[in-house]
Amino acid sequence: MKHVFALIILFVCLNTNAQTFFGLNNYIEYKVGNLPLIISVPHGGTVNPSSIPTRTCNNAVTVTDGNTIELARQIDTALQQLTGCKAHFVFCHLRRTKIDCNRNLADGTCGNLQMQQSWNEFQKFIDTAQLIANTTYNNKSFYIDLHGHGNPIPRLELGYLLTETELGYSNTTLNQLSYVNTSSIKNLVNSNINSYTHAQLLRDSFALGSYFGYGGYPAVPSLQIQNPGTSSGYYNGGYNTFANTCASPSVISSGVQIECNNPNVRDTYINRKKFADSTARILIKFFKKHYGINLMNACLVNSIKQTEMQEISIYPTLLKGDKFLLVKNKNLENKPFIITNTQGAQLIINRVKDNKILLPNLAPGAYYLLIEGYKVAKFICLPE
Ligand SMILES: [Zn+2]
Repeated sequence: MKHVFALIILFVCLNTNAQTFFGLNNYIEYKVGNLPLIISVPHGGTVNPSSIPTRTCNNAVTVTDGNTIELARQIDTALQQLTGCKAHFVFCHLRRTKIDCNRNLADGTCGNLQMQQSWNEFQKFIDTAQLIANTTYNNKSFYIDLHGHGNPIPRLELGYLLTETELGYSNTTLNQLSYVNTSSIKNLVNSNINSYTHAQLLRDSFALGSYFGYGGYPAVPSLQIQNPGTSSGYYNGGYNTFANTCASPSVISSGVQIECNNPNVRDTYINRKKFADSTARILIKFFKKHYGINLMNACLVNSIKQTEMQEISIYPTLLKGDKFLLVKNKNLENKPFIITNTQGAQLIINRVKDNKILLPNLAPGAYYLLIEGYKVAKFICLPE
């Protein structure tokens, strides 16, 4: 099978040329970036293979979010022009009649084996992109799931996993732990550099939605439109927003679902270009304000940091039946580590204990050891 998750190669190439990886039959595309921003587009695909049955299970929704891949590519261009760096992009090129990469596996693939592979690739590429971003930017990364909606009110709908009813509550209520902990920006609430509250990040003057509003793109929630109102059909975030943001216990990235209205935003090349340019400027402002990261030349600054990074000193690097590696660095106790194969597939996630990296049952071959803030270390398991 073609390898898809070439994580380490990605690390190595992070600061040089962009790379693009494709899954089975080029249905899923991962354009590797070097900014702490990950954008996925699950519903913009047009590829319609007749060999794949049309989805009909569980009242499948099959509407395409028109021009959202085109829009994302224009955002990519705008970000590159402004920052000299690249966000990570994951695209599904299949029509939604064949797969829904914003539903769970069962509903999204209706049991088709090929579609299950593509669905997994879509999710794994997002994982890989987030891992790269979090490792490079000290766990400060932001994820956007980009969509298009057909609701009558022409505005962007930002989904933080809070329902239209919940967004109708007071700021005091939304700042209660029970709402923060289920929000897609929980980690940003807990770590933003100005200590803004959940409600402030949702709809004060420096919220993402408010920045769009100032740019001429009304958005909800925002300072300008505090809540969507009931029965507006507002989209509060789907499977990806849950599975790929910190609302999910194992995920670090904060994020949001952005549902774009069509007129003036994604309908024509020129309108998309204006919106993409605006979005790029807004994201730069957002990262600076809340993460303290300047996206302008961030990747160049990082490439310098990368060469200054300390090496992980491990022993042995050639293993024959050994069940652990010894780490000689003093300050790694209890730090999380990841072991991947050379294709970047994650095999072991654990923590350093008593200066040891435990290695249960690794087949002969080459492996990489990743610890945040350190250079990638390589070791080889020989046949016993
Ligand atoms: Zn959609």
